[in-house]
Amino acid sequence: MPRGTPRGNHAGRAVRCMHAIDHLGARPSSTGCAPCRERGDGWAELWVCLTCGWVACSGGSPNQHARAHYEETDHPVAVRLPPASRLQWCHVHRCAV
Ligand SMILES: [Zn+2]
Ligand SMILES: [Zn+2]
Ligand SMILES: [Zn+2]
Repeated sequence: MPRGTPRGNHAGRAVRCMHAIDHLGARPSSTGCAPCRERGDGWAELWVCLTCGWVACSGGSPNQHARAHYEETDHPVAVRLPPASRLQWCHVHRCAV
C-alpha cells in the first residue's frame, strides 16, 4: 500500500548553528594576514578569529589562511574586518551566522 510520508526537512538546514558570538571577544592581533605578508602575497578580505584574535585572509583571496587556521585550531567562528560589518562565518557549519 503506497503511503506518502512527506518529510519536513529543508535541504541543508537540518543543523542549527550555535557557534555565533555576540561580541568580538578577542582583539585583532594584526592589521593583515601574517603568512601572506611573509610570502609577499596580497589578500581580498581579512577575517579575525573570535576565539583568539588571529587575523587571516579569506573570501576572494588567493590564499585561504582563515580556513587553515580553523583546521589547525578548531576555532569555529570568524568575523570579517572591519568588525562593523558584523558578518560572522562558522567554519563548522560553513554558513554565515
Ligand atoms: Zn556553527
Ligand atoms: Zn593569508
Ligand atoms: Zn583562533
